[in-house]
Amino acid sequence: MDLSLRSEDEAFAAEARAWLEANAVPTPAFASVAEEIEWGRAWQARLAAARWVAIAWPPEYGGRGASPVQVALFNLEYARAGAPQPVNRVGINLVGPTLLAHGSAEQRRRWLPPILSAEELWCQLYSEPGAGSDLASLATRAEPAQDGWLLSGQKVWTSYAGFARFGMCLARTAAEADLPRHRGISCLAVDMTAPGVEVRPLVQITGDAEFSEVFLDEVFVPGHHLIGTVHGGWNVAGTTLAHERGTSFPFKEQVLHESYLAQLWGLAEERGLLDDPLVADGLAQAFVELRILRLHNWRTLSRLGKGEEPGPESSWVKLAWTGMTQHLSELALQIVGQASPLWAGAGANPGQGRWQRQWLWSKAASIAGGTSEIQRAIIAERILGLPRG
Ligand SMILES: Cc1cc2nc3c(=O)[nH]c(=O)nc-3n(C[C@H](O)[C@H](O)[C@H](O)COP(=O)(O)OP(=O)(O)OC[C@H]3O[C@@H](n4cnc5c(N)ncnc54)[C@H](O)[C@@H]3O)c2cc1C
Repeated sequence: MDLSLRSEDEAFAAEARAWLEANAVPTPAFASVAEEIEWGRAWQARLAAARWVAIAWPPEYGGRGASPVQVALFNLEYARAGAPQPVNRVGINLVGPTLLAHGSAEQRRRWLPPILSAEELWCQLYSEPGAGSDLASLATRAEPAQDGWLLSGQKVWTSYAGFARFGMCLARTAAEADLPRHRGISCLAVDMTAPGVEVRPLVQITGDAEFSEVFLDEVFVPGHHLIGTVHGGWNVAGTTLAHERGTSFPFKEQVLHESYLAQLWGLAEERGLLDDPLVADGLAQAFVELRILRLHNWRTLSRLGKGEEPGPESSWVKLAWTGMTQHLSELALQIVGQASPLWAGAGANPGQGRWQRQWLWSKAASIAGGTSEIQRAIIAERILGLPRG
């Protein structure tokens, strides 16, 4: 395993570090998701103006044509600087790569620049009440109409739907009786402000409403909003889902969790808990899990440097990250101790509710972006070569 960096990659990392040192600001506390989104738009616009958003995209679309190694290095620098995540994550991580792979030149010209600048946020209209892990069973229909389609159905768990200008939507364009179910699906860009789109926020246990139900009632979608080919949506969705976490995900998470662990270690020390066997065991476990992720990341960097693909381990990474984030969140509440049920309050509540919020959020980690059971099935079949269950 060769871990040495090329001089141009070192120079690239140094340029990113210098910009981030001069410009990165800590994320403030927000009173609402709406406030957080507005602040996030301004921050992302600043990043985009300096071309530090979606750096892997071709320069003609506002990227830097950065190599996978450079993307990984950038993400390490970004996380180390404690810079806030760009707000248009669905647009940058899912929609952009999908448009670069399947969109027309006109679609890329129209939609990519406002994704980078966060002028237009996107959401992902894939999951439905009856279609999550088994996405191909989706029932939303797009009927042909003059110059386009009429879209009807219901989506659910749509992150940031209430703030999005467009939604990337999977809909059935052929009856299951006419085409096998994977082959009768198309991918459409839905204008979230069009008549017939109704967004109903779902309030989570944290009190926030980051995601929503989306009802679609004969929503007109113009023909030029088709992404890819008619009935070719499953292929398009494959690209989207392959980018759901992307190769940069484990690098960002490594640095974030290193920072969480350091903070929790300090808090445990402050509260005289380092000799508590449960706390000591939890810290050791978190340390080991993080070391494994770091070793995995070094191996990935070495592979990317040689021009190889990261390998079939993205399901392992998702599973390992889920365990790590959930264990660390449990540990945080053990250290916070009696203040665990509190939501706010300085002094008596270290972190003022931050660790409690993190613990509640961590419950979603084993569901979002593919459940842990599905990741285990993929590992069993595609990595270990076990027979299908
Ligand atoms: C925080 C968050 C954000 C999300 N954001 C979005 C979004 O923006 N857009 C979007 O489209 N979706 C989004 N989702 C939805 C997410 O993709 C789905 O929740 C996920 O795919 C699981 O689908 P489901 O909820 O329908 O559960 P189901 O698929 O119904 O699964 C229920 C249970 O059955 C298990 N199970 C299902 N099939 C199998 C199997 N074959 N073998 C073994 N066990 C199985 C699952 O592991 C799970 O425990 C989000 C979810 C979360 C939690």
